[in-house]
Amino acid sequence: MAVNGKPKNCPKCGRIYMEVGRKMCLECYEKTLKLKLTVFEYVREHQGCNLDDIMEATGATMPLIREMIREGYFDNEKAQISYPCIKCGAPIFYGKMCVKCFKKLQKEIKVSKDAIEAREKLAQYVKATAGYKTMGRQKRK
Ligand SMILES: [Zn+2]
Ligand SMILES: [Zn+2]
Repeated sequence: MAVNGKPKNCPKCGRIYMEVGRKMCLECYEKTLKLKLTVFEYVREHQGCNLDDIMEATGATMPLIREMIREGYFDNEKAQISYPCIKCGAPIFYGKMCVKCFKKLQKEIKVSKDAIEAREKLAQYVKATAGYKTMGRQKRK
């Protein structure tokens, strides 16, 4: 008897199953599929709902819904499933943070880069002028 796949522990329930292209055991796979269908139906009936609504109504987890968005279950133009920006909590549809926070972050990165450059310049300046400073101090004494 040829067995395709190798035994693996199901990441959802921990039971051993035969890996045949699925990332989980058949039971969990079917459960997930059912849940996805529930989410899909819910979103279709509640256009403009956000992730919290979906999670509360269907019991689905955020990673699952995000996965569904990635897999193209929803026409996100129409479904408009929003989830909170990791920085400020504003509803967003793509990525990890809203445009405002993203721009702010880019600015912050630039500012810190400028700061590092300024510090380096200062350090070089101090190094270059260290001799004079010592001399000056010695003179004053
Ligand atoms: Zn399982
Ligand atoms: Zn934000």
